[in-house]
Amino acid sequence: MALDLDSIGKKIGPLTKDYDWRDVVLYALGVGAGFDDLEYCYEDKLKVIPSFSIGAVFDFLAQAAIGSNANLAGILHGEQEIVFHNAIPTDGTLSSTGAITNIYDKGDNKGALVLAEADTVHSNGQKLFTNYFTLFCRKDGGFGGDPAPKEDFDFPERQPDFEEDAQPSGDQPLIYRLSGDIFALHVNPDFAKASGFEKPIMHGLCTHGYTCRAVVKHLFPGQPELMTRFKVRFSRTLYPGVPIKTQIWKISEGKAVFRTLNADSGEVVIDRGEVEWISQAEAKIRASRTGIRFDDQVAIVTGAGAGLGRVYALELAKRGAKVVVNDLGGTTDGSGSGQGPADEVVAQIKAQGGEAVASYANVATEEGGRAIVDTAVQAFGRLDILINNAGILRDKTLAKMEPAAWDSVLAVHLVGAYNVTRPALQKMKETNYGRIIMTTSAAGLFGNFGQTNYSAAKLGLVGFMNTLKLESEKYNVLVNTVAPVAATRLTEELLPPDLTDKLKPEFIAPLVLFLSSEQCPTSGGIYNAGMGHFSRAAIVTGPGVVVGKDGQVPEPEAVAASMSAICSIDQAQEFETATLFLGSMLDAFSQKDSSQASGSKPAKLSVAKIFAKMPDAFNADKAAGVDVVFQYCISGSDGGDWFVTIKDGTCAVEQGKHQAPTTTIKMSAEDFSAMIMGKLNAMQAYTSGKLKIEGDLMKSQLIEKLFNF
Ligand code: NAD
Repeated sequence: MALDLDSIGKKIGPLTKDYDWRDVVLYALGVGAGFDDLEYCYEDKLKVIPSFSIGAVFDFLAQAAIGSNANLAGILHGEQEIVFHNAIPTDGTLSSTGAITNIYDKGDNKGALVLAEADTVHSNGQKLFTNYFTLFCRKDGGFGGDPAPKEDFDFPERQPDFEEDAQPSGDQPLIYRLSGDIFALHVNPDFAKASGFEKPIMHGLCTHGYTCRAVVKHLFPGQPELMTRFKVRFSRTLYPGVPIKTQIWKISEGKAVFRTLNADSGEVVIDRGEVEWISQAEAKIRASRTGIRFDDQVAIVTGAGAGLGRVYALELAKRGAKVVVNDLGGTTDGSGSGQGPADEVVAQIKAQGGEAVASYANVATEEGGRAIVDTAVQAFGRLDILINNAGILRDKTLAKMEPAAWDSVLAVHLVGAYNVTRPALQKMKETNYGRIIMTTSAAGLFGNFGQTNYSAAKLGLVGFMNTLKLESEKYNVLVNTVAPVAATRLTEELLPPDLTDKLKPEFIAPLVLFLSSEQCPTSGGIYNAGMGHFSRAAIVTGPGVVVGKDGQVPEPEAVAASMSAICSIDQAQEFETATLFLGSMLDAFSQKDSSQASGSKPAKLSVAKIFAKMPDAFNADKAAGVDVVFQYCISGSDGGDWFVTIKDGTCAVEQGKHQAPTTTIKMSAEDFSAMIMGKLNAMQAYTSGKLKIEGDLMKSQLIEKLFNF
């Protein structure tokens, strides 16, 4: 079984976790805090130890391990870096989203490194921290991949500036695990022995928490919120009860290096530590920035000299973005040009204390698109947000629509979005981050008399987004589409004059800003907005019906007779990709029950039913060369023994016990059903001891691939 290199870039999350002061205190107790640092343990003026942030992403780490297809028996936590963007509140909901970012090969028998990162956003709207993980996969090296880049690191040759001794208790893992890391290795003596240890070992992340406390205590005592970066390498395991010593060298104001030793043996257990922090004054500025912010981000808004684009540019700048205000400065039909509109908006942004530059380029040409992106990069060095908004109208019924009217409207809206988005995406790929907004219209989504050119262009943008969302996902670039209704010069003659006041463009900006922010949880959505009303539009497909006999072309009369079933959109579904749609069409031909045919999973299946359905759920095309017998021993009243033989692309399920299974899986009926239904993560089940695997552990990882319930 090999690492799955295609897992690089696949989105993980959002994974959410609710917490309150009790979780904060429990974590602090788990990493040795007590009366000496009561600020971490008492809800009165409670502070959060920065390393608490790892608890938010423990599930993420498990999913990265599973997603990479690493051999679970060989995984160790290699390195952990946390970058803090804002102070961590003492309660709320954390939402983490990220991806596997790279896989490196250390060579034959030397293992591999799986790198992943996750951004965590708080329910108050602030991005709190970014975690960068390195998993050391001891059993997965030698696949011919790139080696990891080398990083030099030296401790100063002088004595440490600070040392902190600590004595984790012999029972420390029993407290620490209650914060979420419930892997059996830290609690179950038999499991620990089977893994080659004398007894359960300390969680590396528990020692990490002790180290984090020591670093705060000596460098910025009582002010954990000043920490901006904390990076470590886990170098050795430690038994509970063994004393530890953290050594710290201050390198400069705001920067130090550190390590933690097993104080008995002198061995380094946490190595290559780096910490950075900010001054109280800087922390105050950070704290004053609340809600959705775009500080240090760069946005392009096309057509930002007037109407909706102008408001987007002003609002983005108010919240910290540096903005490229692009506008050709022409009339509503696209004729003429001028620098006035873009210059005026830039001046307004500067007057309100923001940063902006003007671009007068034409989105309808390839050079124009490139020039707009170059302006962002030259002025501000990066690009995070692109709002494709520029637009014109040349309304005529189709009978009167000359090619010039057709071409110019498509050139600005559809080709214009292509011209700017292509170089913009190139730039966003470099930073593995981006937000792109397309602007569609009710005319495109539903139709509007006299606007075939505009409607075609506007719905074309939806198709553009539908595919771009798939291509850009692995670069953490999200793309969404907005359908505004607002009173601007473009709609002067289209919208009722008495609605003008209610239809201010300002009402559209909140949605566009949210979709442009780090907090945006979605890609590929279409959103209507106007007057403060927001809704999602979607392309849905009804369940449909198979007409005629399977495999035979039906008569048109048979189609006519089935029109009511064909037209029904009861139980309609959305599809993320064309392939998923095709899959559902094929499903309609299968003998599966109706819930499966519609693509949704039943809420619960009995164990016997799961095994009865296994041949149906088998992916023969994933089974080339696979020759295994999985023995399932399912406990509980609903349980029993079954074995599944997979050979030559076939799958046979029998009740009872096989004499020589390749891998034996032991689970309770309830957990097994939950796992098959996707409600229990396999890695979590394994690490928590709910899933026990005997025999060939590696082969057990095939199961997720071979069966699709
Ligand atoms: P607007 O005319 O006020 O603003 C459009 C801006 O785009 C103008 O400043 C114009 O100079 C600029 N522009 C036009 N062609 C350009 C080009 N080739 N290169 C660069 N800039 C160019 O109109 P608006 O209502 O604010 O429209 C903004 C977007 O919203 C358009 O895409 C429009 O189709 C869309 N939209 C608007 C409504 C609405 O109700 N206002 C409804 C649906 C869709």
